[in-house]
Amino acid sequence: MDFTFNCPNCKQELEVDITAVGSAVDCPACNRKMTVPSPDITRIRAAPHGQPATTDASREEKHFVVPLHEGPAEHLITKTTPTLEFAAKELDKKIRIQTFRRVDTMTVNKDHFDEVVSAFLQKVGQQYVISITPITYTYKDLATEHYVTDYGVMVVFRG
Ligand SMILES: [Zn+2]
Repeated sequence: MDFTFNCPNCKQELEVDITAVGSAVDCPACNRKMTVPSPDITRIRAAPHGQPATTDASREEKHFVVPLHEGPAEHLITKTTPTLEFAAKELDKKIRIQTFRRVDTMTVNKDHFDEVVSAFLQKVGQQYVISITPITYTYKDLATEHYVTDYGVMVVFRG
């Protein structure tokens, strides 16, 4: 026959076979040696000292521990949360376009087109670049008064 009593050291509720009454055992909760009390004494003590703050605290602690041991499901939830947050963040970013015309990236003698576009893509980040489309356009060259056809790119991205 089993009966329950509280460890005199840590107040943990313990279950023991009645044949163990009076013998010295190690408390499985706090690992301290104690003597198993007789069931009657336990019952008398349990009434007035049943709800001290320390007992509640240690019992609550136990309640928190149990779900952790059952934990694979909880572990999955923990892993899933950052992914969902990341996805939400990604959706927060609006789809935008940025058009680069080569003529806009030129200084007097030098073409900075590749540098400018590379720097832009670096800033956006590879995972947010949706597409890069070549474009052609015509502009009037101020020096020659001629219409010139040139190229550029249109970048669709999230940002
Ligand atoms: Zn104990």
